[in-house]
This record gives sequence, structure tokens and C-alpha cells, in this order.
Amino acid sequence: MAFAITQTCCSDASCVAVCPVNCIHPTPDEPDFGATDMLYVDPRTCIDCGACADACPVDAIFPVDALTAPLKSYADINARYYADKPAEAPDPAPNFHTWAPPTFDRVIPSDLAPLDVAVVGTGPAGMYAVADLLSHTNATVTLIDRLPVAGGLVRYGVAPDHPSTKRIGETFARFHTHPRLRLKLGVEVGRDVTTDELADRHDAVIYAVGAAGARDLDVPGAHRTIAATTVVGWYNGHPDVRADAVDLSAERVVVVGNGNVAVDVARVLTADPATLAGTSIAPHALAALTSGKVREVVLLGRRGPEDAAYTAPELLALAQRAEVDLVVDTHDPRVTAAIEAGGKAALLRGVRQEAVDWSAPPPHERRRVVLRFHSAPDAVVGDDEVRGLRVSGGTEITTGQVVRAVGYRGTPVPGLPFDDGAGTIPNTAGRVRPGTYVVGWIKRGPNGGIGANKSCAAETVGALLADVTAGLVTPKRRRRRSRRR
Ligand code: NAP
Repeated sequence: MAFAITQTCCSDASCVAVCPVNCIHPTPDEPDFGATDMLYVDPRTCIDCGACADACPVDAIFPVDALTAPLKSYADINARYYADKPAEAPDPAPNFHTWAPPTFDRVIPSDLAPLDVAVVGTGPAGMYAVADLLSHTNATVTLIDRLPVAGGLVRYGVAPDHPSTKRIGETFARFHTHPRLRLKLGVEVGRDVTTDELADRHDAVIYAVGAAGARDLDVPGAHRTIAATTVVGWYNGHPDVRADAVDLSAERVVVVGNGNVAVDVARVLTADPATLAGTSIAPHALAALTSGKVREVVLLGRRGPEDAAYTAPELLALAQRAEVDLVVDTHDPRVTAAIEAGGKAALLRGVRQEAVDWSAPPPHERRRVVLRFHSAPDAVVGDDEVRGLRVSGGTEITTGQVVRAVGYRGTPVPGLPFDDGAGTIPNTAGRVRPGTYVVGWIKRGPNGGIGANKSCAAETVGALLADVTAGLVTPKRRRRRSRRR
């Protein structure tokens, strides 16, 4: 009986590295890596050793015969990835995964003086960089965060009903007490220390500051929408978000966007509060959800279901809740046609389809999430308070709350260059200039889940080490010694 990877897969490929038979794909050196929603075990070649399950930092891997009801479909989901891939290598082997010859991207001189590196940001990107530096070099690391609690988006971004995803924070936290690491919390670059001071005190600085802002909507009345980042920070108890920041007095909430952040917000706002008690949800959010009036959350996608931004595991999790309905609005014939045609839209086969009357209040019997496609926002309706959202085609959706989940946005770091259009710090493979590096969303933009940061960090640390090897960055200890001579 094979193992299967399930819903919370973080794609950081820790499982790939330990699989003795190379049965987990795509691997980081295969073209699909980063483009699939998750990684998959090939049931035909899995030898059932369980090494992947032991290595998984988010508890996503189980023996197929131990899968419980909501996860049973992952046996097929894993197998389906290999449907067009042969189990045995044909000759020639065009579509077959084989062990590639080992590659050694990094060459570190044996006499490399210990580096002194500062890493700014304790989220996944910063922590993968820290793990790489501490595990593969003799560097000392000063790890800095502006907040008094470490964790970044693992602590303040992952939804409270995803506890196994949050568990990756435990893997990262093990490095906080590493003998070569100094943790400095509550220190903000630009307020408590400048980029110049950091550059002066350390051999190299890696900025892993994420994308703390939210993208705006360019429609009339957009200033009355609330950013999904605020909602996420609110239910996770982020110190920058006030306890009363989210108003739950509307029965229908419209979320613009259908990425995984929109799905998180929809799931939490429609959850039975009793299922959230005992999670890491902020007490003020649990109290507000318990007394709030939300019955329905509408996820508004400007494209069709074949192009929806959510990933398959998150959509499945939304569809499988016993206490909340999932409905697809059939207002546009392209929606049903796409679902029948297959591809990503086929995820919605079996989901209830209905022509929703948007002028009526949401049904009262059961809470629900409605997916409405081919609908871009045109204007927020209402003067002092939100009364509706007009969408392309002229339909007005009656609502008292519009959340914009149209993506995060990086913010400038004083003293560093900034690309205002992309919301990133310009870089080449993580190098801003020799001695200054970036990793994570501030490097590549706000896309990709937690695990995507592992290869991103490997690239950045690789650039740093290449600069040291090339003599572009000289470890200060060595600099001081050569000055004394
Ligand atoms: P995202 O995946 O980029 O989704 C943004 C959504 O906003 C898309 O539906 C996009 O539509 C829409 N949008 C953008 N501009 C718009 C506009 N002007 N009008 C209407 N719609 C607009 O971003 P995200 O949801 O913030 O997620 C960020 C990253 O974090 C993603 O890689 C996501 O997978 C990851 N994440 C993962 C998890 C998880 O694994 N559980 C949880 C949270 C976040 P188009 O697609 O048409 O552009």
C-alpha cells in the first residue's frame, strides 16, 4: 500500500530528498516544479517505507489505507499525476523520471572564514535562508524581525483552521536556538537600525521582509473595501490590526479575487465558530464570528473556472465541509461549458450549480460560499456605507461588506532600491548588490506557498556564497586580520 501526499502539501520537497526510490515528483530540478498545486507520490513505485511522512514538515503524507474521509480522494489525485508517465523507463525515456547525475551548484572554498550574516524577517523565506546558512556553512546569523513574535506569515498569515500547515513553524523555530544564531525581535529596519548600519556590522544582509501591503482596486468606491490582508491579520491576532477592524454585521460578504487568500477568508468567515475554538484564532475574532451575521461569502473571479487562482487542495477543502454549502453561480453559460470541458474547471464537477438571485438576501437555513466567475468589480455601491457591488455586465450584488483579496504588495525598505510597479526590490537571483540580498516575496513578488521559498532561499544563499568565493564579499574577520598584517 503506497503513501499519498494530501491537502496541506507545502511543496518544499523535504520528502523528495529522503525518498529512497525517487517516487515523489515533480522534484526541484524538474520543469513542473513550482507549477503544480502540490507534489505527488507515484503509487506504482512507492515502497511504503514512510521516510517521506517522517520528513514532511506539515504532516501531509499518509499511507493510502489510513486516509480518512476528507482526504480519501488524494489517493487518486496522487495516482492521476502519473497517468501519462510510464512506471518503468522505456528506451529512449522521454517522459520518465530518473535519477539525474548529481549537480554541485555551490563550490565553497575550504578556507572560507566564518561569515557573519544578518537575515531580516522570520517568515518562511527568511527561515529557509537561515536553515541553509546554518546547515551548510559555518556562518553566524543575526535574525531580526520588527515584531515581538517570530514567524511572519506562518504565524500571522496561515489560517487558524490549517494547524498542520502552521506546524512548519516548529521546524523553523528549532533554528531560533541554534548556537550560531542571535535572535533580535522588535527591531525594525528604518526605525531602529538603518540598512547602512546593518551592512557595516555584517558581512552580508539578506532581506526577507515579504509583502506587507495589499494591492488596491481601481474602481469607484474602492476606499470602502477592506483588504484581505487586514482580515487575515485580524483573525490571526496580528499586532498591527485592531480587534474591531472587521465588521461582520452583513449577511453577505463579497470577496474580490479567488486566490487561496480569498478561499481562506471565505472558509473562516463561514465556519461554524465552534470548529475554530481551540485553534490559534484570535479570541476577539472568535467572539466576533460567534455573534456576527455572515451567512454567505461570494468569491468573485474575473476569469472563468478554468483560470481560477485557487489551488485544487484548497478548493477541495472548501467543497468538503459538512456544515457549509459550496455553490457555483451559473449566470454565464461559459461557466457550465468550462466545467464540462475539463481541465481545472472540472474540479467543480459535483458542486451545486444555481442561478443566484443577487437582489435577494442569502438563504438562512445553511451558510454557503458562492463562486461567481467572469465578473470583475465595476463600482462599490453606497455612500456612507457599502450597499452593494456592481460587477461587469451590470449585475449589482447586494452586500454590506466587500473584501479585496487581489494580492499582496511589497513595500519599500528605506535605503534599498524599489520597483514600484512590481512591488519588489530589484535583484538578480537574489543579489541586489554584493553584500545585499533578498529572498521570498520581496524578491520574486507575492506568489507561491510556503515551500516555494526553499528553492528561492537556496538561490539567494547561493548568490551570496558565489560573491564570497569571487572575492566580492570579504568576511570582516578576514578583512580585519589582513589589515593587521
Ligand atoms: P493570487 O493567488 O495572486 O490571487 C489574486 C486574485 O485576485 C486572483 O483571483 C486575481 O485574478 C484577482 N485579481 C487581481 N487583480 C484584480 C482586479 N483588479 N480585479 C479583480 N480581481 C483581481 O493571490 P493571493 O490569493 O493573495 O495568494 C498569494 C499567494 O499565496 C499565492 O501563491 C497563494 O497560492 C499563496 N497562498 C497559499 C495558501 C495555501 O496554500 N493554503 C494560502 C494563502 C496564500 P486573476 O487570476 O484573473 O489575475
